[in-house]
Amino acid sequence: MDQPEILLAGPGPSPTSHAVRQAQAAPLLGHLDPDFLAIVDRVQAGLRTLFGTGNEFTLPISGTGSAGMEAVLTNLLEPGDRIVIGVHGVFGQRLVQLARRLQAEVVEVTAEFGTALDPAAMARAIATGPTRVVAVVHAETSTGVLQPLPEIAAAARAAGALFVVDCVTSIGGRELSWDALGVDAAFAGTQKCLSAPPGLSPVTFSPRALARVAARRSPVPSFYFDTTLLVGYFGPGRAYHHTAPISLVAALDAALGEVLAEGLPARSRRHDDVARALRAALQALGLQLLVPDPIATPMLTSVRLPAGVDDKPLRAFLRQAWRIEIGGGLGPLAGRIVRIGLMGHGARPENVRRIVAALADGLARQGVRGDLAAALAAVQC
Ligand SMILES: *Cc1c(COP(=O)(O)O)cnc(C)c1O
Repeated sequence: MDQPEILLAGPGPSPTSHAVRQAQAAPLLGHLDPDFLAIVDRVQAGLRTLFGTGNEFTLPISGTGSAGMEAVLTNLLEPGDRIVIGVHGVFGQRLVQLARRLQAEVVEVTAEFGTALDPAAMARAIATGPTRVVAVVHAETSTGVLQPLPEIAAAARAAGALFVVDCVTSIGGRELSWDALGVDAAFAGTQKCLSAPPGLSPVTFSPRALARVAARRSPVPSFYFDTTLLVGYFGPGRAYHHTAPISLVAALDAALGEVLAEGLPARSRRHDDVARALRAALQALGLQLLVPDPIATPMLTSVRLPAGVDDKPLRAFLRQAWRIEIGGGLGPLAGRIVRIGLMGHGARPENVRRIVAALADGLARQGVRGDLAAALAAVQC
């Protein structure tokens, strides 16, 4: 028997639309087929709009968001290069691990999980040495913080460093203006607010970033992620480098079509509205939010677990009884929070109501009773 679909309301993947699933299931085209190349062109143009950039080098890397992270750092860093990384969650820690593997000189600026980075501390660290790269995570999916970027961007620019942003979760859920902000390279994901399947990582490199790659003393150590080779396929030459994941690119094309049809301002507002409703409902239920309103990211809300509530059976109950997936805590927040994602196609008022009712039910089964009627009444959308 067909099981009813699971509502994906965790940190990703997010639900896909029917049109996206249809596109993914279409018969394969060759990766040099003119019809497929037209799709690639459209995807690249759509991604430029979403990143808010005119960068020619804007394309989907084959691989998930972490592959985009790897592609950006592997191209921009050489052994001994100094990189200042803002760490306010698990994905900042991943940037550090990756930069260390590339033998860069890594300077970490940390903030407690659930808080934002202090731009003055970032600026001090950036100004302290000849800094090659500055990297931060925009929407920290491990905590739910949306990092303000302008001051960090300005400090990077003043020091002549390249500014790198992880926008895996924010793309498609917020309006990004990476050219206006002075972002030199960014990487994103498809399975969060774009509501496409996982497996591609949109990236963009500015001319300044590409000039740095061209000035390397050593070749890019990865063949697969080497930007100087990727332009062979994504540029006018259309030469074989590796086989594009055809079905994923087709699905991303359909997802981008939906994002652009909705329009970025409306889509950003929709994410804001459902997040505001969810936060109000959770508080009306008597729960505490990890991140205060001014720095909370709309696409991912972290909720503190009341004392005595066990996270694993709670999530297992939601999965079984309500067919809803939410996320647990990561790193120091493991067992202390649950993470609710309202991303892309999933960012809908009816999902807020369903999640709040399910959570109230699950908590009641562990002896924590809240006012569900008040919580649902707080959903003003
Ligand atoms: C999900 C995520 C990643 C990693 O992406 P994968 O697709 O899991 O490889 C990186 N950064 C952030 C902020 C994320 O949310």
